[in-house]
Amino acid sequence: MSEARHGACRLPVEVGVKALDIDGITALAHDLGLPGFRAAQIVRWVYGRGARSFAEMSDLPADLRAVLSARMPLPFPEVLERQMSADGTRKYLLRLADGVTVETVGLPAGDRLTVCFSTQAGCAMGCSFCATGAAGLTRDLGPGEIVDQVRVVGEDFGLRATNAVAMGQGEPFANYDATLSALRLMNSSLGLGIGARHLTVSTCGLLDGIRRFASEPEQFTLAVSLHSAIQETRNRLMPGVRGVSLLALRESLIDYSRLTGRRPSLEYALIEGTNDTPKELEALVEFCRGLLVHVNLIPVNPIVGSPLRRPDATRADEFVRTLARSGTEASVRAERGADIDAACGQLRQRADI
Ligand code: SAH
Ligand code: SF4
Repeated sequence: MSEARHGACRLPVEVGVKALDIDGITALAHDLGLPGFRAAQIVRWVYGRGARSFAEMSDLPADLRAVLSARMPLPFPEVLERQMSADGTRKYLLRLADGVTVETVGLPAGDRLTVCFSTQAGCAMGCSFCATGAAGLTRDLGPGEIVDQVRVVGEDFGLRATNAVAMGQGEPFANYDATLSALRLMNSSLGLGIGARHLTVSTCGLLDGIRRFASEPEQFTLAVSLHSAIQETRNRLMPGVRGVSLLALRESLIDYSRLTGRRPSLEYALIEGTNDTPKELEALVEFCRGLLVHVNLIPVNPIVGSPLRRPDATRADEFVRTLARSGTEASVRAERGADIDAACGQLRQRADI
């Protein structure tokens, strides 16, 4: 495969402009000897308006449009499949410029539209309860490929996305630079104009990523997938982060709140007989004691070929009540889109297309 270097990540050349963020487009404009305002115009066309070609950029001179078209491709994802859930959730299978596919989910609720987007095609972390992890990592996505998912969903609903969460395929902090660039493009008034607090990253707990994220100037929201506060259980469930000690993870959460003043969420997928036992609950209570966090309990969603089951609803309620008694806010996350395999952890790598 022919590849080019775009900043820190290696992406296929077909990704073209979608490998570039605001700085990348600014550098391109500079290379071409253009005045500064041209970069902002191009960013607005590509990310604010979702232009499908340079030709339609009507306020750029015709010769510049021709130069840009010759310089690099401007791809846009193709919707290969769209599935609609009875609850209004829609799941999209998107084909990227080099033929790689990713899944994206749109979740409407009242006047809100939340997009659950992917940051990688596949994932290298191999969590035992997650369909994405099963097939491994295909490749990182470029910033524009991440932003485009939010655009595709917004256009399909005929609405502006109000919230976006990096909870689709992939580990966002394993593709940190592109993820941050994408969040900035979603946040920018030249891009999608979504408020920073309405942009959330969920990580399996990569400590460097949490540290860097805490020092970013924007008020993006952080979610950390915990799934067990007992090291041995967590190592088994999440082999990709078995090198991350719970003690260090807890420290990083303390630092994060101290530096940002914000409250991260902890994701906890309840799996019957694995992390829903009294011992696990006790460890979770101790882990959270004194932390500024909100615990999201998610009865594990079934995935093909996995024997893992969710406990009955009373167990989740018991977790919420016990955490509340020790001063930790917790809630059970309402399940969306499970009938179309669009719920958390059900997005898989599709090799069959
Ligand atoms: N890689 C990141 C973000 C994508 S996964 C992460 O792991 O945080 C988004 C969320 O769905 C994570 O909290 C993940 O642990 C959770 N998840 C994965 N598989 C699940 C399943 N089968 N049931 C419920 N939640 C699941
Ligand atoms: Fe990757 Fe997150 Fe799935 Fe784990 S839960 S395999 S980190 S996408």
